[in-house]
Amino acid sequence: MSGILAHAGYSVVREAEAADVWVLNSCTVKTPSEDQAFNLVRMAKEKGKRVVMAGCVSQADPSAEWLQDVSIVGVKQIDQVEEAVKGSLEGKSVRILTRNRPHAPLDLPKIRKNPLVEVLAISTGCLNQCTYCKTKAARGDLKSISLEDLVARAKKAFEEGVKELWLTSEDLGAWGRDIGLVIPDLLHALVEVIPEGCRMRLGMTNPPYIMDHLHEIAEILLHPRVYRFLHIPIQSASDEVLRHMKREYTVVDFCKAVDYLLERVPDLYIATDFICAYPTESKKDFEESMALVRRYHFPSLFINQYYPRSGTPAAALPRVDAKEAKARTAEMSAYFRGYSRFDDTRVGKEETVLICEEAADGVHLVGHSSSYEQILVPRRCGMGMERRVRITSVGKFHMMAEPVEDIPEIKEEEESTMESTKMAQSRLEVIPTNGVEEGLADDVIVDNRSISARQLALITVIVLVLAVVLKKLMQVLMRD
Ligand code: SF4
Repeated sequence: MSGILAHAGYSVVREAEAADVWVLNSCTVKTPSEDQAFNLVRMAKEKGKRVVMAGCVSQADPSAEWLQDVSIVGVKQIDQVEEAVKGSLEGKSVRILTRNRPHAPLDLPKIRKNPLVEVLAISTGCLNQCTYCKTKAARGDLKSISLEDLVARAKKAFEEGVKELWLTSEDLGAWGRDIGLVIPDLLHALVEVIPEGCRMRLGMTNPPYIMDHLHEIAEILLHPRVYRFLHIPIQSASDEVLRHMKREYTVVDFCKAVDYLLERVPDLYIATDFICAYPTESKKDFEESMALVRRYHFPSLFINQYYPRSGTPAAALPRVDAKEAKARTAEMSAYFRGYSRFDDTRVGKEETVLICEEAADGVHLVGHSSSYEQILVPRRCGMGMERRVRITSVGKFHMMAEPVEDIPEIKEEEESTMESTKMAQSRLEVIPTNGVEEGLADDVIVDNRSISARQLALITVIVLVLAVVLKKLMQVLMRD
C-alpha cells in the first residue's frame, strides 16, 4: 500500500502528526492487536485525521460501531487503496470490500520495509475451520497465487538486490490444493531462482497438509540456500482438545512429521505455538502439552493464553477459570525460559551467516546461520553480506560472534553515510515490482502535502541547529 500511494504521488511519512490520513493495517489474530487498531482509530479521530483501515479486523467486522465513519480497504483490494485515501481526503467514507474477486494484481509498486527482504505471500485463506480463529472470517478459503507469478516475483526481487525470501501464508502446506498443485511444486521451482549468497525461509505450516510431502520438504530444507527452519503450530498436545479445536491432526501426526524431519535435516530449527487454557482443556490435557515441550525443547515457542474471539464457535463455551488459565500459561512460559538451544559447547564453533537485519541493541547486526539461529555480529561485517563467523558467547535467544576473516573497522563517517542511505532506502524507496507484501505490517501514514520525508528530515536538522545556536546566544547574553 505504501508503494501504491508513493507511486501515485503521495508522500509516505512515519510521523503521525505530519500526515493528513492514517492508513492502518490491522490484524485480528489476537485480541491485543485488535485493541491496538481500535486505539489507533480513536487517536486518529481525536487528532482530526482521516482514517483508512485495511487488513483483517475491518474485513471481518466492517459494521463494528467504531468503524462507522472510517474508510475500509478489503484484504483483496489493496490495489485500490489510492481510491480510499482520495475519498477520505475529500471527507467521504469509502468502503471497498469483497472477498469474491481474484487477488490484487501482482505488478504493484512496492516499498520494502527491509530492502534486503522480500516477504512473499503465497496464498490467502486456508482449508480449515479452527474453532477459536477469527482470521478465517476475514480471509476465507484458500486462494493460492499461481506458481508462475510467484517464481517471477521471487526472481525479480533477487534481481533488485533482495537477499532473503520469506514465504508467508495462513498455511504454507496447503498452497496449491485449490489449483491442482502441491507445495513441493512451488518450493522446487523457487529454489531454482535463489542466487548464490541469498536464502529462502519457509513460513508457517499446519501439520495436515505437509504430512503427504515430508520427503520433499526434508529435501528442500537440506538445500544450501534454504534455511533449515520450519514453524509448525501444534496448539495443544491433547488429541481431545485438538478435536474440539477442529485442527484435523493428532499429536501422533505432529510428532511423526517433526521426528521425520529432525532425523533427516541436521540442526533443523522447529518453532511451534501452544494455546493454553482452551475452554475444554483439562489439567491433564495441559500436562500433555507440557510433556511435549519437555520432549522437544522447541527453540521458539509462541505461548498464547486462550482468549475468546467474538463470533467464533469457541467463544460460546465456558472458559477455564482465569487464575488457572494464567497459571498454566505462566508454567509453560517459565519452563520455556529455563532451557536454551545454545550452550557453551557452541563457543569457538564456526558458522556461515547471512546478515540482513539491525540488532535491537542498535550496535550489532543480525546474521542468521543455516538453521536460522540469530547470531549478532559487529557492524563491520556489513549488511547483506554472507560471512564466516566464530561464536564467542551464547544467550537464550541468540549467540554473539566475530568474523573469522580480517574485516577493517568501519570509520565513523562511512557508518553515518551507510545509516542515512539505509534510512532513505527504507523510508522512500519505491520499487515498481509485481508483488504484494503481506509482511508490511507497519501502519502507513500518508501525507498529501507537497513536502517529502527527505525534506522534512532536512528541515528538522536545520531547526535543531538553529535551536542550539539560539540557546548558546541566550546563554552569552544572560552572562553579559
Ligand atoms: S488454519 Fe485454523 S487458525 Fe489458521 S487461519 Fe485457518 S482457521 Fe485460522
